[in-house]
Amino acid sequence: MANTPVNWELKNILWGLTDENTEEEIRQKVFELIRDTSFFPTATVNNGQPENRLIDYNMLPDGELYFMTSKGKPFYKQLMERPEIVICSAVDSLYSLKLRVWVKEIPVTDTWVWDEFFKLNPGTVKMYRKNFSIVSVFKLEKGDGEIFHLYAEEKIRRLRFAFGGGEKLPMTYSITDACTGCGSCMDNCVEGAIHMGEDGKCYIRYMDCDDCGICYTKCPLAGTAMISRLVD
Ligand code: SF4
Ligand code: SF4
Repeated sequence: MANTPVNWELKNILWGLTDENTEEEIRQKVFELIRDTSFFPTATVNNGQPENRLIDYNMLPDGELYFMTSKGKPFYKQLMERPEIVICSAVDSLYSLKLRVWVKEIPVTDTWVWDEFFKLNPGTVKMYRKNFSIVSVFKLEKGDGEIFHLYAEEKIRRLRFAFGGGEKLPMTYSITDACTGCGSCMDNCVEGAIHMGEDGKCYIRYMDCDDCGICYTKCPLAGTAMISRLVD
């Protein structure tokens, strides 16, 4: 059977987001996805080991995301020692979402947040009614993330972003000014993510890059014309 050509640009991939969207626009979409999905696997570090659990995230009218826990839980102790979490999950068929976030504990004097949060969580108020002072609320304060889509014919698309003063995680492979434009990386890239620039040097369109590293192995000037964050 003949292959049907696919016009990738016409497909609604990553909810129509592209590398022309701002990081803030991507963040907003990711926060909405978290709000709508609600429960996400959430990792912390416990004595140097990763630990994971499901956390229920709530978006308040300020557009920010919050969660609660009990101060008696190991999760709270881990957040006090290192207030950093990683959220990683599938959000729809073939989509994934990953966030690395620094969280901030909200003081009880911030009554607006507490009131709004527990308006959404009356069951928690009832559950902890015998000692509500053991409850703590946290905000997703600052971080970076990625949304990733593997779609038809194993074509991928990804977008990275940062928020709250965090730094976007760079991709692993990058091409430098030492590139001679030989085209070896471009010929071997499985995703068609490498293009020839008007200056005669190649460049990577990261939205299409799988971070697989084939280009690095095929570059005759690996380590100078092409750099890997893993080895160079
Ligand atoms: S890392 Fe893989 S997908 Fe990305 S540009 Fe290199 S060969 Fe292409
Ligand atoms: S293989 Fe290396 S030198 Fe050749 S075009 Fe790619 S980055 Fe440039």
